[in-house]
Amino acid sequence: MRTVLICVAACVLVILAGCATTEQAAQKGEIRQYVDADNGRWLIHDMNRPAPAVVKPGFESTQDVAGKAPSDAVVLFDGTGLSEWTDTKGGKSKWIMGDGYMECVKGSGYIQSRREFGSCQLHVEFATPSRVQGSSQGRGNSGVFLMGQYEVQVLDSYNNRTYADGQCSALYGRAVPLVNSSREPGEWQSYDIIFHRPVFKGDKVVKKATFTVFHNGVLVHDHVLLTGGTGWKGPHAISDYVPHEDTGPISLQDHGNPVRYRNIWVRELAD
Ligand code: MG
Repeated sequence: MRTVLICVAACVLVILAGCATTEQAAQKGEIRQYVDADNGRWLIHDMNRPAPAVVKPGFESTQDVAGKAPSDAVVLFDGTGLSEWTDTKGGKSKWIMGDGYMECVKGSGYIQSRREFGSCQLHVEFATPSRVQGSSQGRGNSGVFLMGQYEVQVLDSYNNRTYADGQCSALYGRAVPLVNSSREPGEWQSYDIIFHRPVFKGDKVVKKATFTVFHNGVLVHDHVLLTGGTGWKGPHAISDYVPHEDTGPISLQDHGNPVRYRNIWVRELAD
């Protein structure tokens, strides 16, 4: 009986200790969100969550991928100028032009399309810096945002460990890509994104967004339901859905790294 009582007391102490840790986190204002996946329960941005397998893309160059704009596409960037783009306030962006590409300038802020879209097919090509600097989220970080807010992460994920739901082609904080099909730093890479926008009624989401994404021609998200927003809220928390208009710009992130973009086009889709 005495042994049983000691065991019970010990268990209570362990549980209380666990609660105390949570309490302390709560007192410090830290929010912790968890996600249940096929391979376990993980914190958002959990460094212990297994990274997806590495896959070498089948093509050596994006010229071989279906990257050329079809005749019914809205071409947002063909490498000749930034007339279709502004900063987030509608003014001239400080991103710079190179030979057939645009490049992020640290501190310049996001660049966004003048035109707005809802559900769409989006093609975009990008290159992280060939000179490797930094690590984890600090290496070649940018992002492609649908409707100005739902991020498909851009990151140099070639031999660069980070949290799995924040690596290249992740739906940031929401969905780990099926595989890591990143090319080497400095090489041109492609995203082909099929996005269906969320639908809101009042302050409620009545239809959540979906993403299908190909990274360098390899499927990395297979009609994934986006369970909420992708905005960074804390080390282990991301934003919820917040009602918004039916259309929004395509935005590219300034995360302080000189990431390049080229060949960007959109085809509008029915919801
Ligand atoms: Mg990013």
